[in-house]
Amino acid sequence: MPALTLKAGPDAYARAAALLSDGGLVALPTETVYGLAADARSDAAIRDIYTAKGRPSDNPLITHLLRAEEAARYARIPDLAAKLTIRFWPGPLTLVLPRRDSDLAARASAGLGTIALRCPDAPWRAGLVAAGWDAPLVMPSANLSGHVSPTTAAHVFHDLGDRIDLIVDGGPCARGVESTVIRVDDDGAALLRSGAVARADIEAVTSPLREPAPGAPLASPGMMHRHYAPQASLRLNAKAARDGETLIGFGPGFAGPSLSGTGDLAEAARNLYRLLRELDGPGVKLAVAPIPGGGLGAAINDRLQRAARGR
Ligand code: AMP
Ligand code: MG
Repeated sequence: MPALTLKAGPDAYARAAALLSDGGLVALPTETVYGLAADARSDAAIRDIYTAKGRPSDNPLITHLLRAEEAARYARIPDLAAKLTIRFWPGPLTLVLPRRDSDLAARASAGLGTIALRCPDAPWRAGLVAAGWDAPLVMPSANLSGHVSPTTAAHVFHDLGDRIDLIVDGGPCARGVESTVIRVDDDGAALLRSGAVARADIEAVTSPLREPAPGAPLASPGMMHRHYAPQASLRLNAKAARDGETLIGFGPGFAGPSLSGTGDLAEAARNLYRLLRELDGPGVKLAVAPIPGGGLGAAINDRLQRAARGR
C-alpha cells in the first residue's frame, strides 16, 4: 500500500505515534530536510529503515530527541557539548558523543561507541508527546540512499512512497540542508559535516574546530559514501551555460532557474535540493554559478561538490 500523507497536526501525530509503536516507518518534516523516523529502541524497526532507504549498514543514524535534556541518558556530555546544546538546541546541530549504556538499540549508532544526537526544531516533538509517544527516534533523510535529500512531502513520496507507512506533510523545510555534525570529546570539537549551522557560529562557542584527521577510522562513515547525487552531470563555478547545459544562477543577472536572485544564502539552501530534483534527469547537464563559501555557503558548496562527483 502506498504511504498515507497527512497534513501536520494532531491527527497526523496520533497516527504517527501508533505506527511508531508498531515498529512502523514515518516520514517527518524537520527544519533541515524530511527525515524517516523509527523507534530508536527497536533493532527491527531500525533494520527496516536501512532496507527502505537501501542505506549501507555501516553508515550510522542520528538519534533525534523529543527533549534536549534527555541527551545525558544516552551519551556522556563533555562541558563543551553542554554549551553547544544550550546555544543551538532545538536546532540543526548534531553532536557525536561518547555513547552510554541505555535502552537504545546498538544499531541506532551502527554498533559504534559514539552516538549522534540532535534535538530538532520541529512541532511534532510536542505533538508526538501529546499523542502518547515518548522515545527517541532514529531519523536519516527520507530519500533513497544516494539520492538528493527531500525538502517536501512530495519528494519523500517520490522516493519512498511504496516503502513506508506515513508521510507527515509540514510544507517545505525552513533550512533545506542537513544539520551540521560536530564530534565532541574531552580533546575538544571537530567538524564532521558542514550544514545548516554556520561554522563561525559554532566557533563562537567552541574556539576553532578541528578537522577530523584525514582517513581517521570511521570519523564520519556517512561522508565516505556516494551521496547527494542527481542523475544529471553538474559543473560548478560556471559563469555561463555551455552548449546543452542548463545554468542554475545565484545572485542578480541570471535568467532562468536560480538558487537566489538576490544572492541570499539561506534562500539558496532552501532551494538547492528542490531545484536539483526538478531539473534532474538522465542525460541532463547542469551548471551552477559560483556560490560564496562563507556561512551557509560552506554546506551548499559541500553538497554541490558531492553531487558533482557522486555519479
Ligand atoms: P544523514 O542522516 O544521512 O544525514 O547522515 C548522518 C550523518 O551523521 C552521516 O554523515 C553519519 O556518518 C554521521 N554520523 C552519525 N552517527 C555517527 C557517529 N557515531 N560517528 C560519526 N559520524 C556519525
Ligand atoms: Mg541523508
